[in-house]
Amino acid sequence: MPAKVLLAEPRGFCAGVEMAIKALTWMVRIFEPPVYCYHEIVHNAAVVAAFERAGVVFVDDISEVPSGAPVMLSAHGSAPDVVAAAEQRAAVMVDAVCPLVTKVHHEVKRMAGQGYDIIYVGHEGHDEAVGAVAEAPDAVTLVDPRIGLGGFSPADPAKVALLAQTTLGLYEWEGVLADAEASYPELWTARRSDLCYATTNRQAAVQRLAEEATLVLVVGSENSSNTQALVRVARNAGVEAYRVDGPDGVDPEWLARHDVVGVTAGASAPDQRVQAIIAAIAPTEGVEQVRVTQEDEYFPLPPALRRLAQTLQALVEGAYACRTPGRPGPIEQDRDWGATEALALLEA
Ligand code: SF4
Repeated sequence: MPAKVLLAEPRGFCAGVEMAIKALTWMVRIFEPPVYCYHEIVHNAAVVAAFERAGVVFVDDISEVPSGAPVMLSAHGSAPDVVAAAEQRAAVMVDAVCPLVTKVHHEVKRMAGQGYDIIYVGHEGHDEAVGAVAEAPDAVTLVDPRIGLGGFSPADPAKVALLAQTTLGLYEWEGVLADAEASYPELWTARRSDLCYATTNRQAAVQRLAEEATLVLVVGSENSSNTQALVRVARNAGVEAYRVDGPDGVDPEWLARHDVVGVTAGASAPDQRVQAIIAAIAPTEGVEQVRVTQEDEYFPLPPALRRLAQTLQALVEGAYACRTPGRPGPIEQDRDWGATEALALLEA
């Protein structure tokens, strides 16, 4: 049995995931089920299952949403034609895209508008990459970081921009960046890269875990890009590392071989899962936090949802302004409750 668990800080829910989970929780409190959601709200099986039990129907095509039904778009960002179709079809459409993904969509539009050929570094088929590339498909070449720039050939080598999926591994991004800078001396790229704060902080924390632990467990679902990146960062640092969705995924044989186990979680993984896994590990000398930075980012709920809830609050005095302990307060007080409480509410 391991003696110690090293627990990464920060880990788990980022500000974008917090916002998206709370937004969908508001939707299921405001509307009678079913509420529709285009794509998984976040890439985590437990979160998706909790919403399905609460009456959310996840769809991969807007045409599956009945006309006039309420619909939310996922945190990963959607293609412009999807947003337009949802607006047309739904009685109420709320886009829960993370603002840091929106920033990349704006960069794609701006650079394409200025005549740049755009290299978008990302994973083919991932919801975020699909949505971003669709902003200017004729100007964008999707480059898989594992393959590199091979097939990219710009019309004008002096007008090349390099953008990225927010959840890439830093090591994936740095390789393509170095190649692009060497090939295109006038390369345009975002000042601090498109990798988001949550991605880079969680990767820095797992790197720190790998300095002391010999086994690292990353809590998260298989389709979570940032979770997979954390596993690769740990492995690149020379330690044994696995992705696990919950305690059932922990192989006792791993625990028998390691004394110090690092635990972290992808940006869409609920902390209840992390705590359940620590309980399964049952370290004889307890848990020690390994903190690399303090996060205090907060993203407000989508404007369309705030307007809707405010209108309802005004119409039905107090009905949506419930201050009961354990319940979400008025929408203006959104900062006072978190996605973990929101998920607990779904099961209440
Ligand atoms: S991982 Fe980054 S880009 Fe994705 S939702 Fe979280 S904060 Fe936003």
